[in-house]
Amino acid sequence: SSSSSKEIRETFLDFFAREHLHSRVPSSSVVPYGDPSLAFVNAGMNQFKPVFLGQAVPQYQRAVNSQKCIRVGGKHNDLDDVGRDGYHHTFFEMLGSWSFNDYFKKEACSMAWQLLTEVYQIPPKKLFVTYFGGNESLGLPSDEECREIWLSLGVAADHILPFGMKDNFWEMGLVGPCGPCSEIHVNRAGLETGLAKALVNQGSEDVVEIWNLVFMQYNRISNHILEKLPSHHIDTGMGLERLVAFLQNKKCNYETDLFLPLINAVHRVSRGVPYQGCYDMVTTQGQRDWAYRLLADHSRMITVALADGAFPDNNHRLRRVMRQALVTSRKWFNQDASLLLELSSRVAEMMGGVYPELSRNLSNVHMLLRFEEDIFRDNLSKSGREWSGIINQFPELSALPVDQQPGLIAGLKQLEDWRSSSRSDKVPGSLAFKLYSTHGLQEDSMQLLAQLKGWNVDWPEFHRFMAAERMNTKIQSTAAANNSHFQCGFINVASTNWQCHDVHTRNSEGRYI
Ligand code: ATP
Ligand code: MG
Ligand code: MG
Ligand code: MG
Repeated sequence: SSSSSKEIRETFLDFFAREHLHSRVPSSSVVPYGDPSLAFVNAGMNQFKPVFLGQAVPQYQRAVNSQKCIRVGGKHNDLDDVGRDGYHHTFFEMLGSWSFNDYFKKEACSMAWQLLTEVYQIPPKKLFVTYFGGNESLGLPSDEECREIWLSLGVAADHILPFGMKDNFWEMGLVGPCGPCSEIHVNRAGLETGLAKALVNQGSEDVVEIWNLVFMQYNRISNHILEKLPSHHIDTGMGLERLVAFLQNKKCNYETDLFLPLINAVHRVSRGVPYQGCYDMVTTQGQRDWAYRLLADHSRMITVALADGAFPDNNHRLRRVMRQALVTSRKWFNQDASLLLELSSRVAEMMGGVYPELSRNLSNVHMLLRFEEDIFRDNLSKSGREWSGIINQFPELSALPVDQQPGLIAGLKQLEDWRSSSRSDKVPGSLAFKLYSTHGLQEDSMQLLAQLKGWNVDWPEFHRFMAAERMNTKIQSTAAANNSHFQCGFINVASTNWQCHDVHTRNSEGRYI
């Protein structure tokens, strides 16, 4: 019989704390503290950012924790993958270990390998490790040291693979600490080595990344200058849900004990067709099984976010997730918010032992869920009259998802206002972005609306705004060339910063856009 998720989590914490003397640190809130540029905490290292930046002295040399993470926006936006693949969630738990200027690569790799192969007893032939293969134009050498460490630990040569900047060089931003990283991937479909090897980092269900070990070795001074850091740090993060799915021998994360009780609760409450499992994840998209997975995923995210004090009215991503959950439970399971109340109670019950704030704040979670449903229902009924007027004019719009209705109504008004004072037929990208960010109006909805009105949208400009928000490298280099100013937390950056959710860009007048 396989271990429970609870045992698997505890084994990780205990291994680093007891066998390797790491201090156990509690998860931080998912609402970032002192970092307004971040919508949600998205990695275990967020709370240690000042240590890596040299702005704070760590209270311990080694740390371990299990961190609540949310990735629904910014550079790490996994929202659209949720329920469509079996391993990206809006909310997940990141098992992390750190060395602050203490041990470095060799020990980090050795501890990871020992934990996976001896403690969790994963056969080495099912694991692949990656290392940084270097980048000539940036003058960065291949991390041969890392390759040799893996060889010395007994990893087979054809299970050690080099990758470039995108996958194996972790960057905080154009400035700040950074370094090569080494990732561990599992062959969860039991494919033959040659086949599995070719699927590493290809976004396959069969070979999935589980653990990232980052070697903080450099400080990026500018676009072209990397300086060696006086102190070296280790920052690792492993997705609990992926590890558990693998150890419990499940085809996807939703079949583990972290999600199945939630899926079963949806079925128990709605008494409809039961969940069929993780097959054909792509073709079942938008169907009942997808709806089951989506509710299991979103109910965890909503419960954690609300319990940590996030509010849907100033966090439009949280509102979007809540609406998506409300719409899905109506449409597929014929349920109102009471289903989500039930699911959030289950989430608190399942995870309250590890994150006591979930149980402590459950009544707030319930209150906000009821409140949000009232607002949504109100919105829909108000939009009812206006909506039928719009549909009479443009029947094509009725095909769009119901949760886009309020956005379409508000969007149409603003577009008509704009048109009455403009001679162009091209909707500015800034306006399109405003409709997206304030009314949640999606690209396809906007495109259809504009088309029906005989206008077109400046999509390149829109995408530049989106990219700025998403910390997309392209916009940043363009902007860096234009000498724009980016701010991420308390550091200024002009390139990829993967732990930064939202970047605020200032225009030439110094205003945030
Ligand atoms: P992927 O390439 O699969 O999107 P990543 O490289 O973005 O993952 P990292 O930033 O390296 O992920 O985070 C460390 C670990 O956290 C990953 O190896 C993975 O196990 C886990 N993880 C990352 N994103 C998610 C997610 N959306 N849902 C569940 N686990 C995740
Ligand atoms: Mg990712
Ligand atoms: Mg990756
Ligand atoms: Mg990674």
